[in-house]
Amino acid sequence: MSIDTASHIGHRASGTPHAVIDPSDGSVIGEIPISSEADCLDAVETAAAASASFAALSPRVRGEMLRRAYELMTAESEELARLVSRENGKILADARAEIAYAAEFFRWFSEEAVRISGDFRLAPNGDKTIIVTHDPVGVSLLITPWNFPAAMATRKIGPAIAAGCTVILKPAMETPLTALAIVDLLARAGVPDGVVTIVTPSPAGLAVSRMLRDPRVRNLSFTGSTEVGRLLLKQASDRVIRTSMELGGNAPFIVLDDADLDTAVAGAMIAKLRNGGAACTAANRFYVSRSIAEEFARRLSAAMASIRMAPGLTDGAGLGASVSIGERDKIASLVDASVAHGAVVLTGGVKPAGVGAFYPPTVLSLDADNPILAEEIFGPVAPVVAVDSDDEAIALANASEFGLISYVFSGDLARCMRVAKSLESGMVAVNKGVISDPAAPFGGYKQSGLGREGGFAGIHEFLESKYIGVDI
Ligand code: NAP
Repeated sequence: MSIDTASHIGHRASGTPHAVIDPSDGSVIGEIPISSEADCLDAVETAAAASASFAALSPRVRGEMLRRAYELMTAESEELARLVSRENGKILADARAEIAYAAEFFRWFSEEAVRISGDFRLAPNGDKTIIVTHDPVGVSLLITPWNFPAAMATRKIGPAIAAGCTVILKPAMETPLTALAIVDLLARAGVPDGVVTIVTPSPAGLAVSRMLRDPRVRNLSFTGSTEVGRLLLKQASDRVIRTSMELGGNAPFIVLDDADLDTAVAGAMIAKLRNGGAACTAANRFYVSRSIAEEFARRLSAAMASIRMAPGLTDGAGLGASVSIGERDKIASLVDASVAHGAVVLTGGVKPAGVGAFYPPTVLSLDADNPILAEEIFGPVAPVVAVDSDDEAIALANASEFGLISYVFSGDLARCMRVAKSLESGMVAVNKGVISDPAAPFGGYKQSGLGREGGFAGIHEFLESKYIGVDI
């Protein structure tokens, strides 16, 4: 694998070079050509031309391609992790965890490819037999964000290949090199030409709109911000394209008065600092029973203050850089605005001088009406709010347009389950700081998205159901 990606397998791009930057020091890691609208339409043509023959391959053959991709990705994990760390800024430990997670989507969907079940039964009034089968939905456009450049791509490519769909992948322009490396790896795993094509238009808007207007594109799978998701849903509606939307989050992290504080703080450190806080699943609002709030905030602040902030590949780094200076400055302004609204900084809270898109681990103590609690911070900032009852914690947690994941900590499992059932989110983590798993359905309620990735549901985002009614 190389990060010299000027002429890469499956990449349709003929335009001017785009520099990919290491956000920890501003250096250029590599350059890739930008895709024109014509390149993007050429990618659609390529995907459409490969569609029928790929769909006709047996599930076992497609599953074995994914299995080989899993094995290659595992064998090359260290090199891939270093690339992810450099272009994204995250620490190497997080990048290694991402590559392992990303590879698991290939393994999971290699197993799902051969388990696409249907239905066969007599109609209730006995006048026919109901047969339900599935067809691949067809050419799918996959758009991914920069925060998990490998896993967000494999979470879509895995089920698409398992289902028999050809795809066009459009990665975020901050992190295209990881996507190019994955497409290269898929070619070596035996995925035929034309099944996975990559495009890198910039700016993305016009080229993506043009692809969505092409009648050969049947499906859009998007992971990114709710703002862009809304825009794409409107565009997809013109041709009633199938959509899967994995959008923003604003995860509440609830700690009840009977929680084990060591467990809660350890969970908070994972839920907050994994990926430097740049995760849609990142704990974004901490609601803690008033009797333990001060002690929880004190212990969390001590743990956060002990983290070493350094470029992602540095030994002992516990927090890397944000993906860009712009992204880091967004975090800094959210913190500054929260302080102007009365938040008290317990640790961190000051943007460091010098090179690199760094922002320190920060803990804030604040009231429930502070505006930062309505924003997806996407950085290492933990706002802590004291609450007076389980019901208040639930009400505050649910008072959001987002509903991706929630966290609950308590020593009483029945109490956790009562709270979990009341939370308006697609996922609930109980006494754990991370629950993402390729074998489980990932997705949100409300404006956090539509559809599910992973689990048994993931492959169905790339399948159409066909009901055949017949008298047999
Ligand atoms: P973003 O700005 O929405 O960008 C995501 C992707 O959309 C990128 O490839 C981007 O391309 C592209 N894009 C931007 N504007 C577009 C437009 N007008 N038309 C078509 N495509 C467009 O999100 P991000 O900043 O990369 O990622 C952070 C967001 O992703 C957060 O909100 C996070 O919660 C969310 N996320 C959600 C999940 C989930 O599973 N729910 C997982 C990870 C991240 P360019 O790079 O070229 O702009």
